[in-house]
Amino acid sequence: AAREALASWSGPAATADGTPVKLLANVADGPSAEQAGPEPVQGVGLFRTELCFLNRKDEPSVEEQADIYSSVLAPYSDDRYVVVRTLDAGSDKPIAFATLEGEENPALGVRGLRLSFSNPGLMDRQLDGIKLAAERTGTETWVMAPMVATVAEAADFAGKVRARGLKPGVMVEIPSAALLAHQMLEVVDFLSIGTNDLTQYTMAADRMATDLAHLTDPWQPAVLQLIAITAEAGKQAGKPVGVCGEAAADPLLALALVGMGISSLSMAAKAVRPVGAAISRASMDVCEQAAEAALSAKDPMAARDAVRALLS
Ligand code: PEP
Ligand code: MG
Repeated sequence: AAREALASWSGPAATADGTPVKLLANVADGPSAEQAGPEPVQGVGLFRTELCFLNRKDEPSVEEQADIYSSVLAPYSDDRYVVVRTLDAGSDKPIAFATLEGEENPALGVRGLRLSFSNPGLMDRQLDGIKLAAERTGTETWVMAPMVATVAEAADFAGKVRARGLKPGVMVEIPSAALLAHQMLEVVDFLSIGTNDLTQYTMAADRMATDLAHLTDPWQPAVLQLIAITAEAGKQAGKPVGVCGEAAADPLLALALVGMGISSLSMAAKAVRPVGAAISRASMDVCEQAAEAALSAKDPMAARDAVRALLS
């Protein structure tokens, strides 16, 4: 039956009893945005802009940035939207013109939004490039910052984005941001949970360390609780809270996320159909039970088993 559902499902995504769930694509550049376009997605939930600049020695001009961003926005100028993430340079994604050299502990260092504290021009120019691209393509454009730790950071970023007529949000990748989700949503229009980093920072386990895979698992109860806190804040504020880390691509976990009140799931294009098919077979009630079961399980394996058992 699962195979049949997968073969016949073609979107738009909704639970078996009709609650809509937005499915979005994670993209890296123009070609990947174009490739994801024909998939049953409502848009792009994570455009990782830093991946456009991995091989660049110097910062591209505002004009050049606008061209690159336009190539990502253009395939979604119909009635869809694109969430552009500002530069997440540093740690696992070093960018020659942005990253600081010789940091003792780059994962906990000056990366993501933090680069704009000492180099505000970098952020300003990128936001100008995004604004130009949004105007040129006419695509609805949301802009979010990575590695946000405090409400003051979120408010400052939101001001810069709103000044350009765009819709501001922040990523929830640091436990502090999840715990403060309610206050974050008083200053931004949406949240997007980056489960890869949220898991890394919650479990104090390097996401690249294969020996620690049992810890860097988004099914860890502590990670699920932080996601649930964030989702609940979104429901209370009536604002969208999505997930854009690898967790969103796991069809089983996706059900629990929907049950927690997550309104969008953004993932690699190839994961969209399996996740959409899984959601279409579960009622909202089953999703809520999945969330409850996962949240009360004692470890990741028990959580997976509990959700699987609900489906059989
Ligand atoms: C994440 O941390 O989950 C995320 C989506 O961002 P990245 O994987 O690019 O760090
Ligand atoms: Mg991240």
